[in-house]
Amino acid sequence: MADERKTLALVAHDGKKADMVAFAISHRDVLQRYELVATRTTGQLLREKCNLEVRQMLSGPHGGDAQIAAQVAEGKIEAVFFFVDPLTANPHDPDIQGLLRICNVHDVPLATNAATASYIISNKAL
Ligand code: PGA
Repeated sequence: MADERKTLALVAHDGKKADMVAFAISHRDVLQRYELVATRTTGQLLREKCNLEVRQMLSGPHGGDAQIAAQVAEGKIEAVFFFVDPLTANPHDPDIQGLLRICNVHDVPLATNAATASYIISNKAL
């Protein structure tokens, strides 16, 4: 297991997808050292706009957040970058709250905006 790469999860609500792409372009050199998992549309953007290899889950409204929460609960995720849009209501709010909650239950680093994400990704301990 020594050479197994750590996994980062990336999710961005529609109003924050541009922030996610900008973040990923800025930190591409670090991100590409990790296994990446993302909700479907976020993952597609990271592939197309940032040329990153990403394992895509379902779209957030179809259960992607819940799939990522399950991986966090199983100890498979090193950190979660979840750019939430506080100005827009989401039909899958229970899943969003679930992902946030499960990160806090398991004390997994969680960035909910680009500023915090930049702090975390700049930390060599990750
Ligand atoms: P998406 O899902 O990446 O498929 O848009 C994100 C979300 O809404 O949680």
